[in-house]
Amino acid sequence: MDANPSDKASPSMIVKIWGNRGSIPAPQADEEILEKVALGVHGTINRLSGQESVKSLFGKESPTLDDVTDYVVRNFPRSVRGTYGGETTCAEIQAVDSPLQMIDAGTGARKLGGLILRRLFTEGNINPLNTVPEYSKLLDLWLTHYHWDHIQGMPFFDPIFVPRGIDIHVHGKRDARKRLEEVLAGQQQYPNFPVVWQDIPADVKYDEMLRMDPVPRQRGKLTVTYREMSHPDSSFTYAFEVNSKKFVFATDCEIKGIEDARLIDFSRKRENGKAVGNADAIYMDAQYLPDEYKGGNPKAVTGALPKIDWGHNTYEWCVVNALAAGIPLLVLGHHEPKRGDRGLEELHQISLEFRDKLLRRPEHAGKRLDIVMSYQGLELKL
Ligand SMILES: [Zn+2]
Repeated sequence: MDANPSDKASPSMIVKIWGNRGSIPAPQADEEILEKVALGVHGTINRLSGQESVKSLFGKESPTLDDVTDYVVRNFPRSVRGTYGGETTCAEIQAVDSPLQMIDAGTGARKLGGLILRRLFTEGNINPLNTVPEYSKLLDLWLTHYHWDHIQGMPFFDPIFVPRGIDIHVHGKRDARKRLEEVLAGQQQYPNFPVVWQDIPADVKYDEMLRMDPVPRQRGKLTVTYREMSHPDSSFTYAFEVNSKKFVFATDCEIKGIEDARLIDFSRKRENGKAVGNADAIYMDAQYLPDEYKGGNPKAVTGALPKIDWGHNTYEWCVVNALAAGIPLLVLGHHEPKRGDRGLEELHQISLEFRDKLLRRPEHAGKRLDIVMSYQGLELKL
């Protein structure tokens, strides 16, 4: 699905994905790009040698480059005309009249950082949906956990190098063994990076959040809540709620085949403590196929090693939990770095078939669930 699944004229919140690759960046290889070009050319030749003409395909006898681009976008899946992306986890949330929100700082943070500085120096306001002056240069970064693929973009996040530019509030799990500041400083220690964390000029504040006592954070009009989930050393799943719109970001959590009561309860919208509805959308880690998780097949994309307790889901658990929680839109992310773009489209297809099978069960009668494969640049408007 390429269209924005929830396009609205005046959204309360815009979620944008800047990185969705799990574990390690996965740039495109030469042979993958060659395959895309060959598939596109081959498909077009097949159509021209059949009933179609240049005019019927492109709208005119001598198409311009723009006409050809338009044809490619209309006729080929993302696996042929583009990519789902190789940057590790990073997402941006613009919410009305709130500081700009960012989830994780994987390598996707590099390009987001450039855009934030452009907004700062041209508009003086880094969140396009914000009209409150005191939030215009304030950024909240919510770390799900401290594994490398979720923080490795930080040394290349340009706003940290600008003095008196943006106030950055970093929120993450309180850890008895290491302070949050030490976690970020650790990856820039001599001799691994030319600028040690202690020398960066930006104003950074730290919010170490308790695993056992998850107190909501109010950030302008936006309410941010969190819940600890299962992952090696645990991870936080976050929810962002404004104007009765709720988005849940649940990456690097291993649900193990159950309807997870923690996640389902956490996804409910509440008023005065009472559940009044369900989240509007959820992003979930869908790194594995069931066979890859169990292991034993040397021909599997991920090899024969079992992935039990590595902290990630199969797509089936994502579908089961989105349906159980009554959430109408599921975004599958944290893509396996060994899975190519065509493999991601196959995973999307089998997740739709699995959903359809579950929807035929009486307990899901009347439910609806859209499933989108996350790609770099995906925007959800809620
Ligand atoms: Zn990860």
